[in-house]
Amino acid sequence: MNAPESSVDAVSLRAVGLKATPQRRAILKVLEASERPLSVEDIRQQLGGRSGIPTIYRNLQCFVEQGWAESLAGADQIMRFVRCHSTGHHHHIQCEACGRTAEVQTCAVEASLATLGRPAGFHVTRHQLALFGLCPECQ
Ligand SMILES: [Zn+2]
Ligand SMILES: [Zn+2]
Ligand SMILES: [Zn+2]
Repeated sequence: MNAPESSVDAVSLRAVGLKATPQRRAILKVLEASERPLSVEDIRQQLGGRSGIPTIYRNLQCFVEQGWAESLAGADQIMRFVRCHSTGHHHHIQCEACGRTAEVQTCAVEASLATLGRPAGFHVTRHQLALFGLCPECQ
């Protein structure tokens, strides 16, 4: 297993052409520190309520485009964001009891999913999986 990469700092933000605003750094820090996915409202509260929802949301979309975060729909259908540590294709599994998430770095289903589109004449280019389970502490 690879050790999680260090937090995205000002240098990486600039490397991809994003200004390292204090707010961007703060949002990444909040995501990084959380074991559970956070909604935009959760993040707003953790930032002390000073930033607006639209601004936070825009920054999160930016992070998703960079592969630094991902949005997951919870069992309640609310979209929450998690920090991604893998750079390659991966999935996140969510604990149904406590909401904690873990990154799943191997995708065992990729090959079988590739054949699913064939009868309809489609070439499968990507997929998303919502994985739910019970974490070690909730089993
Ligand atoms: Zn991810
Ligand atoms: Zn759990
Ligand atoms: Zn996959």
